[in-house]
Amino acid sequence: MERYEDEWLNMLMRIGGTDVGSLDDSWINVKNPATGEQVDRVPAGSTDDVSRAVDAAGAASAGWKKKTVRERGIILFHAAEKVREQHKELARLLTLEQGKPLREAIDEVRGYANILEFYAGISASQQGEMVRLGTSGDALVVREPLGICGVIIPWNMPVLIMGWKVGPALLAGNTMVLKPASTTPLTNLRLAQILEASGLPPGVLNIVTGQGEIVGEALVKHPGIQKISFTGSCTTGLRIRELATSQLKELTLELGGSDPMIVMDDADIDKAVDGALRGRFYNAGQTCTAVKRLFVHDAIADTFMQKLKQRIEGLKIGNGLEAGVDMGPLNSPVQRERIVQIVDATRDADAGTILTGGGVLNETPYDRGLFYRPTLVADVMPENRLMSEEVFGPVLPVMTVPDLDTAIREANRTRYGLGASVWTTNLHTAKRAFDEVHAGIVWVNRHLTVPPEVPFGGMNESGIGRENGLHALDSYSRTKTLFLGW
Ligand code: NDP
Repeated sequence: MERYEDEWLNMLMRIGGTDVGSLDDSWINVKNPATGEQVDRVPAGSTDDVSRAVDAAGAASAGWKKKTVRERGIILFHAAEKVREQHKELARLLTLEQGKPLREAIDEVRGYANILEFYAGISASQQGEMVRLGTSGDALVVREPLGICGVIIPWNMPVLIMGWKVGPALLAGNTMVLKPASTTPLTNLRLAQILEASGLPPGVLNIVTGQGEIVGEALVKHPGIQKISFTGSCTTGLRIRELATSQLKELTLELGGSDPMIVMDDADIDKAVDGALRGRFYNAGQTCTAVKRLFVHDAIADTFMQKLKQRIEGLKIGNGLEAGVDMGPLNSPVQRERIVQIVDATRDADAGTILTGGGVLNETPYDRGLFYRPTLVADVMPENRLMSEEVFGPVLPVMTVPDLDTAIREANRTRYGLGASVWTTNLHTAKRAFDEVHAGIVWVNRHLTVPPEVPFGGMNESGIGRENGLHALDSYSRTKTLFLGW
């Protein structure tokens, strides 16, 4: 059933503390991926809209920078409080535009509040340092904001990733222009309104909706922007780096991964099965640190695979708003088509054995939704696309390995290096995996968890820079030194 226009939320871009439409009155339709229904529409912003937003961020800059870190932290804290109060409505909106089960949307909204609280919590401890230089004098070192930061958000975890960027950037005293993904702009807009209702002055955080090639590129090219923080695909990340380096902009690029999970013969099998299930099928597999390649020791492979297959077949797929749903649809037709092509090609080339799943779910009442069956593929060849590309959907390729050396060698056979996990009860195995697997984070008997305190980011083509923790705060500021010669 199509919605009538007056039922829409009528969300507009947020520039200088005001809701504004696009200058040329064009729109992007936001659809529910579980039903195909229109949820709302947002303005398709232009290059001029980006300039308006940068002007608004520039005008708000001096006032925001003048506030103490503690004053800025208190605003973040109030916003977190309001987000917790409104978490059910926010989560519902997120499910409507993104597709994930309500339970996961609630997790994500709470995760956003956790991040704001983390940065609010450390605000009082952010002070400068004094360096005593004996007879030469003394130096005072303080941190200053960079200025205006442009951030580009993806559609897979739009709320959490917004928190990773606005938390440290605002606490450090920057003003911002944020571009949400075109399929998931609504919750980001709501969160910006909540920040303003919590005391964030108008113009400190501006949101320009619109297409990546237009709004995203205009942000990256704008000479008034000092830093770009981007999360998304490798292709777009490389394009951004090319555009940004001509102006020497600071860059944080989080470009996804192809995380390996290694399960050794001494692992707690049930715990590892749980880890693989959640690690791969959470958010329908559309998570940068999802388990994207599984390496299981030969000695436990049969038991492990049998248990995992059974658990996968027990997952309830459906509209994320329905009770008890474990996995929703993919977010866009393009994303689903990518998965269909890769799995079909694997099947056609006989490059793996599909143990369960392996196709779209299109029977009533799912015929208009973008569902794909949770899929387990055994005996996958190392050079197959399931193993070599970032597969952003509910498909888990598995290879059995005779020993840790082989597991580590295969785990490192990737151009990415975001996360990795090893499942073992042997401390030496854990230590070797930590030392030898190329990844920004190595979990032992865990996968996916990234609390706000923990720095997060990749190696190789997974990107540059770190989100979260004090490292992210540093990346949104620079030192300035006062040298006092006595
Ligand atoms: P993109 O990198 O294209 O999109 C991410 C964000 O970048 C969106 O806001 C998008 O806007 C914007 N964008 C797109 N093109 C440009 C551009 N030229 N300049 C500036 N910003 C731009 O990813 P896709 O949506 O195409 O997804 C493709 C693949 O990328 C996925 O299958 C997955 O493998 C990977 N990915 C990884 C993510 C991660 O968490 N690491 C997140 C998302 C995707 P708009 O929505 O308007 O296009």
